[in-house]
Amino acid sequence: MKVGLIGLGIMGKPMAKNILKSGYDLCVNDLNKANVDEVVACGAKAASSEEIGRTCDVVLTMLPNGPQVKQVMLGENGVSNFMKAGTTYIDMSSISPLVAKEVAEVLAAKGIDMLDAPVSGGEPMAINGTLSFMVGGKQQIFDKYKALLSCMGASVVRCGDIGAGNTTKLANQVIVAINIAGLSEAMLLAKKAGVDPQLVFDAIKGGLAGSNVMNAKFPMINEHNYKPGFRIDLHIKDLANALDCGHSVGSPLPLTALMMEIFQTLRADGCGSDDHSGIAKYYEKIGGTQIGK
Ligand code: NAD
Repeated sequence: MKVGLIGLGIMGKPMAKNILKSGYDLCVNDLNKANVDEVVACGAKAASSEEIGRTCDVVLTMLPNGPQVKQVMLGENGVSNFMKAGTTYIDMSSISPLVAKEVAEVLAAKGIDMLDAPVSGGEPMAINGTLSFMVGGKQQIFDKYKALLSCMGASVVRCGDIGAGNTTKLANQVIVAINIAGLSEAMLLAKKAGVDPQLVFDAIKGGLAGSNVMNAKFPMINEHNYKPGFRIDLHIKDLANALDCGHSVGSPLPLTALMMEIFQTLRADGCGSDDHSGIAKYYEKIGGTQIGK
């Protein structure tokens, strides 16, 4: 099976390396030549969009958002112009489910199947090949490509038809943002009331309030380490997609809207490139107190 992958950023690069480790024949493309060179050094072949479209059985993308996905796949020299009927496109980027459905419709008219397959888990899980994939699309196409996705992920779950993968990812991003805010708010309360947040964490992490978010983000907040990880700018993109989707299906998102404004405040304050655990900085500012050490 010949595989093409476009988008070799923080996530795409280690994912490409895991595809190669599993023995697939891989062609790659990215605007950033250094990223392409690094993956070529591991055994991939650099290729144009046209070459990827013409020669690959399955084309993968790992791009920032919907506009880039539409440009790469459907633009003037878009990959889909060169793909044969019967081939498959799998988008692993986190985009709006509405855009995923739009792209799938254009591809279906050319006889090309599509899965939307965004991931959860950041760069370390991309490196270890332990990402969680949330997939939308036909069962038969999912079954055909589950093994390919499994070489990058520990969990690969089909959530429904096309768009369901990104809907699931939006739900994930809403939960994560609100969770980090809850954690920050609670730890500010503890600190201002005179209890060490580290001891609060130690006492409650095994109880009902404990979570993967708490385990991953509290140590960062406590150490004031906001190196990404997952950038606030990317989380803003996901919440914008969640709000668009929510408005279009009539699902109110009051807490997501509040989180969006907290993120916007942080971005205006120059923190857009910080890890999303930097939500704690917003609380430190309004509380006039440092949460961590
Ligand atoms: P990134 O910005 O590091 O990488 C994107 C890559 O796409 C870049 O290398 C860029 O050069 C390339 N690119 C952009 N336009 C292109 C084009 N027209 N042609 C070819 N290449 C192009 O982003 P990332 O962190 O790897 O994230 C990718 C996706 O995965 C996003 O949708 C993000 O929300 C999602 N995601 C990221 C993380 C994370 O922790 N970073 C975790 C889960 C999901």
